[in-house]
Parts: sequence; structure tokens; C-alpha cells
Amino acid sequence: MNYELGEAVISLRDINKTYPGVVPLHVLKDVSLDIRKGELVSIMGASGSGKSTLLNILGILDNYDSGSYILDDVMIKDLSENRAAELRNRMIGFVFQSFNLINYKNALENVALPLFYQGVGRRKRNALAMEQLERMGLADRAHHLPGELSGGQKQRVAIARALVTKPSLILADEPTGALDSKTSKEVMQVFRDLNDAGMTIVIVTHDPSVGAATDRIIRIVDGRIETNDQLSMINDKRLIIDC
Ligand code: ADP
Ligand code: MG
Repeated sequence: MNYELGEAVISLRDINKTYPGVVPLHVLKDVSLDIRKGELVSIMGASGSGKSTLLNILGILDNYDSGSYILDDVMIKDLSENRAAELRNRMIGFVFQSFNLINYKNALENVALPLFYQGVGRRKRNALAMEQLERMGLADRAHHLPGELSGGQKQRVAIARALVTKPSLILADEPTGALDSKTSKEVMQVFRDLNDAGMTIVIVTHDPSVGAATDRIIRIVDGRIETNDQLSMINDKRLIIDC
């Protein structure tokens, strides 16, 4: 655990989100939470409780209806798509359950892709991508296609891709959801190592063993944050038993 926690990097106040429809669905209800620089936090809840909706808002992939969201001192509200994309690309690395790798590009090309979109030249992008693959212990897999990699290797490639733009925050949506329990533990160790190196990480999961591997669990039940008592939640093993 990193005890030298910094300022709030994420600050949500009374966030509400309703999906419109014949029967509108009020998915997030007065959600307030703070996440500080250097934290490794999980957001845990049952399927359908609103976790991905919340993570999409945190990642500026979706809007909210009311409340406020401040990300690193920037008010995230009704941004233009360009401005949202600019903030996302500069600040946030995403990791998803299904890896979201491009199947016909090798590991190195997948990791380098966000740099291509930033206009970084080929030589530099490949060097930076290789650096992240090395960090993930995957240098010898750089020229393999995703189809030639194990699930754990694919997720480590995806993590390398999330890191290659040097974001200040990693957001992961069920990053171990497609992995067996041994591989899941290995991927959680990767997140712990990144956190030890100072990275702020938010992991959404329904898996108690994933939550237990983080320093703080934020629980969401039917779109409401159930408890967010920062001190009592830290590494409280009783949390594993009651879910
Ligand atoms: P979780 O990630 O915790 O499983 P989600 O945030 O994906 O939950 O979904 C919360 C609720 O919102 C679910 O009932 C889901 O069916 C609904 N939902 C999710 N996305 C949409 C959408 N784009 N339009 C309408 N309903 C949605
Ligand atoms: Mg989800």
C-alpha cells in the first residue's frame, strides 16, 4: 500500500444518471466518492448495480445528468467530444474484461496504437511500446498476435497499452473477468506493482478476491454507494466474508 496518498484525483458529488427509454432506468443515485492520487481502489457490486456506468462516467466515456465530477481539478461536465477525448488520452488508461486488442496487429503494434493516434512517430512509438511490454515481462511476445497469447498475457498487453501514454490514472472494468483464478491473481499483482510505483488505479469488479487485493473497497448496491468510510474500509478482511 502506498501510504503517501495525495490530493483527490477524482471527486464525485451526488452524481445521478438515468438511461432514457419507455421505462427510464435510474442507474446511479446520488453517488459521491473521492479517490486520491496513489490509491488502489475497487468498486464492487453485483451485476447490474451500475459499476460500468460509473466507470464510463469516470473515464469521460459517458455523461451524467446531475451532480459534479472533478478530475484532477477539471470540472467534467458537458464537454465537447474533442475536449473529452483530449482529457481521456492525456490522463486515463483503460483496461477491459475482453482485452479489446486488435487481432490482426501484434502485441507491439497494439501497445503502440494510442501513440499513433497522438501523432508520435513510428520509431519512438515502437520504443515506448517495447518499454511497456518489457515492464510487463512480455518482450519476447512483442511480435506475436493476440491469438497466440494466453489470457493473462493478453491482459498484460492491454495493461501495457493503457500505460504507454503515461496516464495519471488507470480505470479497469472487470479486468480479471475472463481469466482463471490463478491468472487473475497474477494480473492483480501487476496492478499492485503499478500502484507501488505510484499509479492511481480504480478497478470495477464483482469478484470479492479482486476487491480483497485492493487497498479500499467502495461498494455499490442498486446504483447507490453503500459505504465509503475510507479508514475502516482499508484492508478490512471482514469485507470478504460478508459478500
Ligand atoms: P454493472 O456494470 O454493474 O453490471 P451497468 O452499469 O452495466 O452495471 O448497468 C446498470 C443497469 O443499467 C443495468 O440494468 C443495465 O441493463 C442498464 N444499462 C446499462 N447500459 C445501458 C444503456 N446504454 N442503455 C440502457 N440501459 C443500460
Ligand atoms: Mg459491468
